[in-house]
Amino acid sequence: MSENKSKISLFSMNNQSKTIIIFWFLSSLLIFFTAFVIIGKTQKTISTSYRNFGKMLTQTLASESVDIIKDLPEEEKQVKLEHYSKKLMKDNQEIEYIEYKNNASDVYFSIGEKSDFVNKNSFNIDTPLYLNNKIVGAVHVVFTGKSMTDVSNAARNSIIIIFTIMWFLSLVAVLINTLVITRQISLLSYGVRKISSGEFGYKLQPNDLWGEIKLLFDEFNQMSTKLHEYEEKNIDELTYEKNKLESVLMSIANGVIVCDNFDNVILVNNATATMLNVTAQELYNTNINTYVDSDGNLPFNEHIKEFKDTPLDDMEQEPLIFQMTIDGRVIKALMSPIFTASQEYLGYIIVLHDITKEAEIDKLKTTFISNVSRELRTPVTVLRSYIDTLCNFNNDFDENTKQEFLQIMNQEAKRLNNMVNDILDFSRLESADIKLEKGFLDIKPILENTVNSMKVLAQEKNITFSIIIEPDLPKLYINQDSIERVIKNLISNAVKYSRDNGKIKVRAEIDGTGNNVECSVEDFGIGIPKEHLEKVFDRFYRVETQTHTVKGTGLGLHLVKVAIEKHHNGEVFAESELNKGSKFGFI
Ligand code: ADP
Repeated sequence: MSENKSKISLFSMNNQSKTIIIFWFLSSLLIFFTAFVIIGKTQKTISTSYRNFGKMLTQTLASESVDIIKDLPEEEKQVKLEHYSKKLMKDNQEIEYIEYKNNASDVYFSIGEKSDFVNKNSFNIDTPLYLNNKIVGAVHVVFTGKSMTDVSNAARNSIIIIFTIMWFLSLVAVLINTLVITRQISLLSYGVRKISSGEFGYKLQPNDLWGEIKLLFDEFNQMSTKLHEYEEKNIDELTYEKNKLESVLMSIANGVIVCDNFDNVILVNNATATMLNVTAQELYNTNINTYVDSDGNLPFNEHIKEFKDTPLDDMEQEPLIFQMTIDGRVIKALMSPIFTASQEYLGYIIVLHDITKEAEIDKLKTTFISNVSRELRTPVTVLRSYIDTLCNFNNDFDENTKQEFLQIMNQEAKRLNNMVNDILDFSRLESADIKLEKGFLDIKPILENTVNSMKVLAQEKNITFSIIIEPDLPKLYINQDSIERVIKNLISNAVKYSRDNGKIKVRAEIDGTGNNVECSVEDFGIGIPKEHLEKVFDRFYRVETQTHTVKGTGLGLHLVKVAIEKHHNGEVFAESELNKGSKFGFI
């Protein structure tokens, strides 16, 4: 500000001031030239008038002096001339010397001091003396020219004073214009510069102002205030719109990256940051091609190249889709160009979708299909070979062996049946519109019956059951078949993953909160590693480690979860310690 104010000094004038000063200088020259001319003319006029006056006086003197002495005797003539000349010189101080001459040019009479014309304004006049129209002599009068000098000087001085005053006034006017008006105009133009640089609301301080300029300053300040108000309003609206868009963008679960034409990230949301394992600030304003994942790969690089090599029209029709694996996450990316309303290309948008879960399920599905086919093949192969044997060699076997064969076939058929049931249950329970009929039922007989039906299976491994049911349990609003299947699933797992001669505890009791009934099946078998425990309820999920060699579909626990949580509004839980055993149950 101070720097700008210093610009408004007399020494750094704008063009307008410079022009004013040049005009003032020229008009000063004109004023002085005019004064000089007027003084010259005035002095000339004064001098001419004075000389005319001198001429007239001399002629009067000539005629009067002839008249006075013409009839006088010779001795009186000089006395009378002296008397008359003295009186004239007394009345006219301008006359310095008078000389009368006769026709022979001899001085007849003279009076006064004949000067040496030291005074440059002195002058003399000669006039002939007439008597009866005849020249009888001449009179020579010398004038001092003092009055003329005085008048001329006075006139010159007055003119000089008048013109000096005029010049001085014009100087004052120019100074006022330069220092006051120009200064205000500079302030005004400074204010306009401020406004044009975007500093709306800037105010001029109208000190010592009056008239039109004050009005102009007031109008300027009003305009500035109005602009400031519009700006604030606009900023508020823009900020509101921006915040709205930002919150929408931020709340999108998918990742969104917007890049300009030069691949610089101009917009990024939190979901992207999570997926790419960086902060949004780290990504913002960087070249997306330079993003490096924790394995040191540049996952975007080649896809952006492919995107740029494809005609924009094609990209507009169908986005470029690619898949990346970043820090163990499988991310699907859709890349499409961005155009303005006038079809001007701005850059592109990449939408990221974390499909880790889907990819896992896909993988599990593939494993499931191979597991199921293997699982189905075993009993089918066993059944076929036994049926083949019985068909072809029926007579070769005794009754006991045949009975044994049939038992094995029965077991395999059951296994097959169970597996097919699991698969059917899965597709049935997964469908949204299934409605289970429910009623208030006692859990005790359901548990006891189910355990009894599973005892045959457990006998193979010599596993024993203990059933602990808290007395007076409230009736539960359940579908009997569904809950039976859940318990069967839990018990069959407990049997499957228990060692020979193991023990299984089946419990039903009021839980810690006192509001719910908790049913659980506990075994002391191989247990589940911690990292698998939270996933065992996922569909198709199977723990496949060295100890978990038993085959299965990975559907059992998922069906338990769906039956309990989706159809009975309950909750499943699992606790396990590797090699010590597991406890599965529901509330
Ligand atoms: P599966 O048909 O493979 O048994 P489940 O959904 O019933 O499928 O079980 C999922 C996985 O959980 C199994 O592969 C198994 O490894 C583990 N699991 C389930 N119950 C037990 C248990 N009682 N003890 C140890 N592991 C178990």
